[in-house]
Amino acid sequence: APPKVDIDRVLADLPQMKARLTSNENPYGPSEKAKKALIEAVNESCRYPRERVKALQEAIAKEEGVSEENILLGAGSSELLLAAALNYSRKSGSFILSADPTYASLVRAAVDVGSGWEKVPLTNDFAHDLNAMEKKVNDDISLVYIVNPNNPTATLTPTDKLRAFCETVSKRKPIFIDEAYIDYVENPKAQTMVDCVRKGQNVIIARTFSKVHGFAGLRVGYVIAQPDTIKELRKYTNGAGNISATSASAALASLQDKEFTKYCVQKNQEAKDFTYAILKKEGYTPLTSHTNFVMFPIKMDGKKFTEEMLKRGVGLRNWEFYDQHWCRVSMGTMDDMQLFANAFKQLS
Ligand code: PLP
Repeated sequence: APPKVDIDRVLADLPQMKARLTSNENPYGPSEKAKKALIEAVNESCRYPRERVKALQEAIAKEEGVSEENILLGAGSSELLLAAALNYSRKSGSFILSADPTYASLVRAAVDVGSGWEKVPLTNDFAHDLNAMEKKVNDDISLVYIVNPNNPTATLTPTDKLRAFCETVSKRKPIFIDEAYIDYVENPKAQTMVDCVRKGQNVIIARTFSKVHGFAGLRVGYVIAQPDTIKELRKYTNGAGNISATSASAALASLQDKEFTKYCVQKNQEAKDFTYAILKKEGYTPLTSHTNFVMFPIKMDGKKFTEEMLKRGVGLRNWEFYDQHWCRVSMGTMDDMQLFANAFKQLS
């Protein structure tokens, strides 16, 4: 199974971080409009959140061009990744098919309840190797999991190839596409696979408010899928999802605040340009990022590197794959990125 995040270790490290660049959060969120809606909803928090959650579901369906039966809300997309992991691990001897490396939580949850994991390396340019993945689809595969753009590599799998893959492979097996970072790509509406759901394909799209909306602590996410799939996944959630009235109201306000998300994407790009420049100047070659984080190969041991950066107040994450140590730096404010740059220059 992919390694587990050590929560105690994460909590122990947090107080030392002046720049928290570990978890791909959005330092500009939530928006002022979302905060206002959140505070207003506090006054009605003695009531169950049904109508507020329903209003959010309607707004999301409209925004995505699907019907309400195609949407399932969750307390963050993690809840829905877990629901999928449980649903598609019911049959013994089944396997989840995914890339490696990719975002681990769905696969890990599935393996924890007895599923197998069929992993396929990324291509040379760190996209999903769709040809190789298609060849691995057999009767034992219960779900194909694709993260696009991918975490931790920040890379995008070409849209036309992915669309063709969905069209063919979804006739045999359900495909779960985790689009947590889709808002950061150029022209998200053209790159999302939500049209595959509209065309009736067996495709599940996951989205989160944790990234461009800056809601990581408020916990709102959703999936878009065929109504029958939504019904299956709902069994593993608390019906309408575990969203509080406050979070649902804030999410509705944020969904409508297009200026804010545009601003966040722009600030993210500024931080990325700055980070690329620092890395390149020091002789490093970052992967081209389509997200709010940057991945780059490092020359020293990854664990030692993150420890040394943490001593300098900068929290990062490290990986080791394809015989190489890697570092992932989330985009923070420009002050955060300056701290990163100063510490990095001391070590490189
Ligand atoms: N999917 C991907 C690819 C992620 O990177 C993350 C969080 O970093 C999540 C899902 C889970 O996000 P959340 O539960 O906050 O919606």
